[in-house]
Amino acid sequence: MPLGVAIPESGVRRYMGFRGPVDTSPETDAMIAKAIASLEKDCSPKYVSKAFSVTVEGFTVKLADITIESRALARNLAGCTECVLFAATAGPFCDMLVKRAAVTSSAYASCCQAAGAAAIEAYCDLINDKIKDEYEAKGLYARPRFSPGYGDLALSHQKDWFRLLDITKITGIELTDSLLMVPTKSVTAIIGLSPNKLPCVRQGCEACTMSQTCAFSRKE
Ligand code: SF4
Repeated sequence: MPLGVAIPESGVRRYMGFRGPVDTSPETDAMIAKAIASLEKDCSPKYVSKAFSVTVEGFTVKLADITIESRALARNLAGCTECVLFAATAGPFCDMLVKRAAVTSSAYASCCQAAGAAAIEAYCDLINDKIKDEYEAKGLYARPRFSPGYGDLALSHQKDWFRLLDITKITGIELTDSLLMVPTKSVTAIIGLSPNKLPCVRQGCEACTMSQTCAFSRKE
């Protein structure tokens, strides 16, 4: 499977706006299955990652030559000594598939759009797990990944990610003047690494049972 990871049907349904067990028509189920199979077969994912030392003072995060002012990120990275920046893309196929599908069926185009979102999420989870395992072996524990544009972490920091990781050259992802990425199914993120082990969940603080009490939760 070129994507390297299965696209969970539950994720596709969530991106389509279905909450919980919803009965959908056999036609919709078939379109979801077709979109998943197509993307698992023809996506060409790529990623780049790089580790940096990080310091956090108040709401200021410093790494490499950049300074980030973000209350939520500073909380999430408190106690971290290292971090990994990464960028990942599912590749251009998803955008082409959605465009092609939209000509004949907006319903199928929606399935492809949702399957693409679930595909890049599953691919990022795969990378996330690799980074987590690699650093755990060195005694550093991963916090949930955090992306520019989330909470008060300004989307303009995308430019720093692109410069520090040489993203366009390595992955082919382009950053538009309005800070959108092309292909659209692309993600940039930071993962904090701390010597203190927390019961973090990959799905993020929003899904963590500790979110109301944890001092490092990005969800206040
Ligand atoms: S709330 Fe949960 S996921 Fe978030 S930092 Fe705390 S332990 Fe980790």
